[in-house]
Amino acid sequence: MADCPNKEKNAQVCTCTYTSCPRHTVCCECIRYHRENGGLPACLKK
Ligand code: SF4
Repeated sequence: MADCPNKEKNAQVCTCTYTSCPRHTVCCECIRYHRENGGLPACLKK
């Protein structure tokens, strides 16, 4: 997975507790993954 230049900034607002996820703080990959699986990333759940 390509390194994301926004990872540090994203980490400041990310609400997902699964920090060992390879998509953690790479929001585009995270959203794509959950969309393809019919779900939502942690930050979009209420
Ligand atoms: S919301 Fe899902 S894809 Fe995103 S970091 Fe957490 S576990 Fe990984």
